[in-house]
Amino acid sequence: MTTSTCGHEYTISLLQLKEEQALYQQFCDILASLLPDSALSFFIRPSLSRKESLKLVYQQHVEHSLALEDMLEKAQLCRGKPALISKSYTCMPLRLDDQVIGLLWVCEALSPANCNLTAHLMNVFFHQWHTLALARIDPLSQLLNRQTFDERVLQIASGQGFLQPREAHNARNWYLALFDIDHFKRVNDSFGHVIGDEVILLTAQYLKENFRAEDYVFRYGGEEFAILFQAHSDAEAQSLLDRGRDVVGQATFPQVKTVTLSGGYTEVTDVMQVSELVNQADRALYHAKQHGRNKVVFFDALGLESEQVVSSDIELF
Ligand code: GH3
Ligand code: MG
Ligand code: MG
Repeated sequence: MTTSTCGHEYTISLLQLKEEQALYQQFCDILASLLPDSALSFFIRPSLSRKESLKLVYQQHVEHSLALEDMLEKAQLCRGKPALISKSYTCMPLRLDDQVIGLLWVCEALSPANCNLTAHLMNVFFHQWHTLALARIDPLSQLLNRQTFDERVLQIASGQGFLQPREAHNARNWYLALFDIDHFKRVNDSFGHVIGDEVILLTAQYLKENFRAEDYVFRYGGEEFAILFQAHSDAEAQSLLDRGRDVVGQATFPQVKTVTLSGGYTEVTDVMQVSELVNQADRALYHAKQHGRNKVVFFDALGLESEQVVSSDIELF
């Protein structure tokens, strides 16, 4: 690929990509071909959440002598400027509003022309990445939307959990949980849809806060939430979910006061189809609804009982 002064071809190649992982890959390929053959690292927050720390996305050659915190400190120094250039390094921040959400570190002084081109491409990359990220978000709850769900489950089931290589030791398993607000129709009937919407928004916030930054919380449907998260054991998964259920159960909601959640979950394995996984979590949730609500049930704990179809007036999904 040839480089024009404005990096036209590079720009086009970034704007064509409609999937974040392919976009990252293309951006890293561009960095490798554009920048000198010295040590270079690119860190970014994997989501726009302020809770997440910067993660290494791309690294070339030797390790840097500086720790990430020191690089971040330098990045924060370049207010309003595309880069901080010293004799031995170039530090380029990636910003969202006033926050540094990523940085590129090169172990040598870049020329101003190279610096400007790289800063331009970082901006194009970020603009495209932000657009893709926004398309994944549900406007009411600010959670990941349903469309993103199938894609993420597939990635995780096939071992490509985004930016999360499975650690050889201390490995954690992925789980899929579905939560549904109990008796939500009553909330709408008694207080109206606006208050109902507020309950959905607050519940979404409580659930998101209860899980780690690297877990995924989705608005699966109306007042239904899906969570993809990691735990070392079934018992740990159960306690994480019970904690989420408790946080919501103990919160005071405006007007409505209290709401409870029922949940069902299953372990994500690479042999299952997305529909099969959802079906298992759904059956566990159905069980929780039938057995008093305000509880979380593990699919594996259902045993043969789950094979029986019990007639009920409960509608799920
Ligand atoms: P259950 O305990 O069995 O889950 O009872 P439920 O009343 O919650 O029953 P169900 O889950 O079937 O009802 C969901 C209701 O949520 C029905 C629908 O009117 C309402 N709903 C779906 N989406 C929205 C939304 O975006 N905003 C509001 N306010 N209500 C919604
Ligand atoms: Mg429902
Ligand atoms: Mg419900």
